This record gives sequence, C-alpha cells and structure tokens, in this order.
Amino acid sequence: SEKKHVAVVGLGPMGATMAETFLKAGHPVTVWNRTASKADALVAQGATLAPSAAGAAAAADVTVISQTDYKAMYASFGDPGDALRGRVLVNLSSGSPTELREAATWAERHGATLLTGGIMVPPPGIGQPGAYVHYSGPESALDEHRATLAVLAEPVHQGADHGLAMAFYQAELYVFWSTLTSYMHSVAMLAGYGAKPGSLRRFTAKMLTDLAGDGPMGFVGHLTREIETGEYEYAENTLRMQAVGMDHIVETNEDAGVDTTVPKALRDLFWRPVHEIGEETGLGSVYEAIRKPQG
Ligand code: NDP
Repeated sequence: SEKKHVAVVGLGPMGATMAETFLKAGHPVTVWNRTASKADALVAQGATLAPSAAGAAAAADVTVISQTDYKAMYASFGDPGDALRGRVLVNLSSGSPTELREAATWAERHGATLLTGGIMVPPPGIGQPGAYVHYSGPESALDEHRATLAVLAEPVHQGADHGLAMAFYQAELYVFWSTLTSYMHSVAMLAGYGAKPGSLRRFTAKMLTDLAGDGPMGFVGHLTREIETGEYEYAENTLRMQAVGMDHIVETNEDAGVDTTVPKALRDLFWRPVHEIGEETGLGSVYEAIRKPQG
C-alpha cells in the first residue's frame, strides 16, 4: 500500500479514535496499549496488536503516541534498545514544555526524532474539518509525514523548540477555560438575584462573536494591535474607569453570595497599572502587568 504504516501507542478515548481514523483512511495500523484489551475493537477492524510499544514503533513508518502524560511514554517504551533508531515518534499527549524538551532528548538518545503536538479537538473531532494540531520539533520530520498526520487534523508547525506545541496548546486551553469559567461565574452571580441560568446565554453568545469580529467590539483584534505597538488606547475608556467597574463586579458577586476569588484577582490586576502608570492608560496595559509578575 502507498499509505504509510502507522503505529498508535495509547488507546484511551483519543488514541483509539486516532487508530480508527487511520484505519478508515486506509492506513495499515499497528497498535499497543498497556491494557491490551482496549485494542480488541481495533483488531476487529483490521489493526495489528504489537507485543510492546517498541515493537509497534519498529513495525511502522511513523508512530503516534497519545497517553495521559509523558511519563506514560517512558513507562511504555522502557529501554527500547535499537527499536527506535531512525524512527519518527509523534507525541500528542499533554505535558509541560519542559517535559516535551526532555522527551526530545530522550528520543535523540535512542536515535529517534520526536515531533511534539497539542491536538485541539476532543475524540469526536478527530479527522473532522476544523481540527488542527500545534506541532513543534524539526519541520523536516513533519513534512515527511504531513499527509499521514493530516488524516487526524490539520498540522500547524509552530517552531523547532519542542516545548512550543504545549505552550500553544495551553495558551488556547487557558482562553477556553477562563472564558467558560467567566460565563459560569456570571450565571451564578445572576442566579443570586433570581435570574434563570439561560437568561445570559444570547448576550454572551453575541459578545463572544463581537469580540472576535472587526466591529467596535472587536477587542481581540484591537488588543493585538495595541500589544504589537505598545500603545494602549484610553481616550473614551481609561483603565481607571474599568478598574472602578471591577470593584463593582466584586461587590455584586459578594452581594450575590458567590465565590469572589477570580473577580478579586482580576480587580487587583486592573488596579496595578493604574497605580504604576497613572490615569493615562487603557485596558491593554493589563498586558504589561501580566508580563511583570509581583514578588
Ligand atoms: P487519558 O488521558 O486518560 O489517556 C489514557 C491512555 O494513557 C491509555 O492508553 C492509558 O493506558 C495510557 N496510560 C496512562 N498512564 C500510563 C502509563 N503509566 N503507562 C502506559 N500507559 C499509560 O485519555 P485521552 O485518550 O482522553 O487523552 C490522551 C491525551 O490526549 C491526554 O494527554 C489528553 O490531555 C490529551 N487530549 C485529550 C482530549 C480529550 O478530549 N480527551 C483533547 C485533546 C487532548 P491504559 O488503557 O492501560 O490505562
């Protein structure tokens, strides 16, 4: 077959879906998982179960790893001997940038090349339009296997530093989790005033759309330009005005009887540039406060 032989190591919800997606795309697939029974359904669909992770990698043109963390990779491959020599390993597990860099050194020590990746979709999104992976490590290795890896999700190369894949992954997850937590916060606060949980939905949906757009509320774009130039606009909206507004948000959350940890942290972050820079600054200078952690 002209389709590359793929090994998938780790058959949790993600890895199992990846193996199935490769099979459906016509790739020969060899799998390995610590708990071997998780391979049963895939073997029934045509996958080959390898006796070891190193054996799976040695059988394939390229190996995709999807496990809980990077510790699982070391536990799975043990001392692989020469099995990984000349191979490309693609690890799509979650970890810290430091762990990813260490893993690249480990792979090199065994004669292998590591590509690190952060996959930005849950299992049902794998192989679907709109799915993408932030990759880092040598671009030549990604280019060599780009067509195969594109079966899972669009590959986006972020740089040679192996840590970048997780820096991007976590940057995205932080926006995801903090945005959704803010939404839950506001719904909980409104519930303290007797409002129904669904009453904020359409307003939040509009705001999220507007923030990403090009109109006057297109703050993702406005802030990006301000951060690039270092000039934080304040003509109609000083940061002081907004910090006072954050004080009111903290009070309103207190009145509603909900947790105020996050609102208070945001309020403090807003006031810092006002105290340090003065009145003549805008929301964007919160970025400068974030870049200067306090004691
Ligand atoms: P898990 O994070 O629960 O990973 C389960 C897999 O890891 C199983 O194959 C499990 O083996 C294996 N594993 C864990 N510890 C070890 C170990 N010490 N030795 C050998 N194997 C081990 O499930 P997911 O499939 O959901 O996630 C895989 C990765 O993908 C994670 O890093 C996750 O953060 C990331 N991810 C997940 C998304 C999701 O929506 N689920 C979305 C994007 C990324 P066993 O079966 O034997 O327990």
